[in-house]
Amino acid sequence: MIVFVIIGVCLVGAFLFWVLHEVIQSAIDNSTLAKNVQDIRNHLIGKGTQQETAASGEDHEPCPGCKHMVRKTDRVCYVCGLALRDWD
Ligand SMILES: [Zn+2]
Repeated sequence: MIVFVIIGVCLVGAFLFWVLHEVIQSAIDNSTLAKNVQDIRNHLIGKGTQQETAASGEDHEPCPGCKHMVRKTDRVCYVCGLALRDWD
């Protein structure tokens, strides 16, 4: 007899957990939380891109051959293949 009670409690608990999960999931989807997270992510991505662009201007220089911006640490232009640095 006690076994049926335990099984019943477990089934009711699982059902309540599923209902609660569905309610919370739908609330998250419908709320502005998802939109705010998306805005924050876009803000962070945009900010990171700006920082990368600003930093790239300092360690980049135009290739003498094709004028394409290449890294100062590059030995060979990856666009035209011109040797930019002496090989050690
Ligand atoms: Zn080049």
